[in-house]
Amino acid sequence: MLEPKTFSGGLHPPDLKLTSDKPIVNLPIPSRVVLHVSQHIGAPAKPIYKITDKVTCGQCIAEPGGFVSAPVHATISGTVIGAGNFMHPLGVPSPAIVIERTPETPEPVYTSEDGMALPPEEIKKRIQQSGLVGLGGATFPTHVKLSPPETKHIDTVILNGVECEPALTADHRLMLEEPDRIINGLKLIMRVLKAEKGIIGIEMNKLDAITLLNDRLKNESNLSVQPLKVKYPQGGEKQLIYACLGREIPSGKLPMDVGVVVQNVASAAAISDAVNMQKPLMERVVTLAGNCATNPGNYRVRIGTTVADFIEMTGGLKQDIPLKKVIMGGPMMGFALFDLNVPIIKGTSGILCWDAQQAIVPLQTACLRCGSCIRACPMGLLPQQMKKLVDNKKWAQLDSLGMLDCIECGCCAYACPSGIPLVQSFKLGKKNVMAERKKAAPPKG
Ligand code: SF4
Ligand code: SF4
Repeated sequence: MLEPKTFSGGLHPPDLKLTSDKPIVNLPIPSRVVLHVSQHIGAPAKPIYKITDKVTCGQCIAEPGGFVSAPVHATISGTVIGAGNFMHPLGVPSPAIVIERTPETPEPVYTSEDGMALPPEEIKKRIQQSGLVGLGGATFPTHVKLSPPETKHIDTVILNGVECEPALTADHRLMLEEPDRIINGLKLIMRVLKAEKGIIGIEMNKLDAITLLNDRLKNESNLSVQPLKVKYPQGGEKQLIYACLGREIPSGKLPMDVGVVVQNVASAAAISDAVNMQKPLMERVVTLAGNCATNPGNYRVRIGTTVADFIEMTGGLKQDIPLKKVIMGGPMMGFALFDLNVPIIKGTSGILCWDAQQAIVPLQTACLRCGSCIRACPMGLLPQQMKKLVDNKKWAQLDSLGMLDCIECGCCAYACPSGIPLVQSFKLGKKNVMAERKKAAPPKG
C-alpha cells in the first residue's frame, strides 16, 4: 500500500461513521415522487410534461436548460399529478413535477453493452443524456466537467472515495459492494478525457475499501488507490488534488488548469450504468443516521422520494427520542430541513435525524482572537478578519482577502471556541463580493 498523504490545515471531527458495516438496502418503489427541475448547478431543466400526462420510469420529463444543466427523468411510472412550485430542500419554492405511481406498470429493463468500445463523444453524449451530476453533493453536471477546452490536457482523473464528512458511509459501502461499476466508470471517464492515469483517493478509515480496490487494480498499470490521512475536508477538490499529486490550484482556477478532473465514486458507478446500459440517473445511495432513526443504514432510494417517506420506508423514527433537527447531507456542510415533505435530490448523500443533544448549537460569545479558525482553514484564509469585513460590509477588502476561495467547509466555525457562525457570514460575503465584481465588470458587446 502507498504511504497515506494529506493537505495542510483542516481538522478531524469525530468520525461518527456508525453505519459503515450496514450493507446497502434497496428501498421499495415510492408511491409518489417530487422531481425538481433544479437539482444541479447551472440552468434549471425545462419541464416537458403537464398534469394528467402519463410517464414511464426512466423517461425524460425535463430537458436541459442550457449546456451547464442536466435533464431530469421520471423515477417511477405513473401520472403527473402536480406541475408548479413545490418546496425545495434548500427552503425555497421551486418548479417541480409530481408523479403518482401506477403500480401495475412494469419496471424498465436495461440491457448492457461494452461502453469502452464506444467512441469518446458517444460516451459523453450518453452521460449527458442520463442527467448525471456530481453525486458527492456538488451537483455540477458531469458532462460539463468532461468537456474541458481543447487547450487543456487532462493527464489524471481522480475518483473521490474520501467521504470525509462525519456520519456518511454511502460511498464507503458502494466501494465495498460495487467496486467493478466504479472502476468501469473511471475507465470510461479516462477514455473521454484521454487521461493517462486514474487514482482513487480513499481515507485510511476505510481500510477494507482500500484493500479491496487495490486488489481489483493489481493488474492495471495506470490505475491506483491513494490512501489518505483521515482529515476533514480531505474530499475537497483542491485538498484531494494536492494530497494525491502535490499540485496546487491557483486562486480562481479549476482542477482542469492543473491537468486533473475529479469525480465522486458514486458518480463513476452511475457513469458505468449511463454508458453501458443507457440508464438514466433515477436512484442513489443515501446514509440514514442520527439518534432518532430506528434503523440507521445505507439505502438505495428513488430520487424524488420525500424525506418523510424515505424515513418511513427505513422503519421510521424512534418513539422514545424526540426529533429535534433533520439535516440533509453531512454534519459539516449539510443543511437543516424545515419540512420533511421535500424530496431526496440527486446530491443527497445523507439524512441525519438528530435529537436535542446532537442538534445543540453552541452559545455565541465575543471573538477571543485565538487564531484557531486561521489554523483550521484548509484554504489558508483569515476567517477572523473576513468575519469583521462581512459585518462592516467591506466587500472590496473582503475580495482582496480571498473571500471567493472559501469552500464553505465549516472548519473555522467548528474550531471556534466562541461559537461564531462564520460560514453563514461567508456565504453572505461571497454573494456580495460576486455582485460587486459583476457591477464593476465592463458591459458586454
Ligand atoms: S469555511 Fe471558508 S474560511 Fe472557513 S475554514 Fe472553510 S474555507 Fe476557510
Ligand atoms: S476561532 Fe473564533 S474566537 Fe478564535 S479568532 Fe477565530 S473567530 Fe475569533
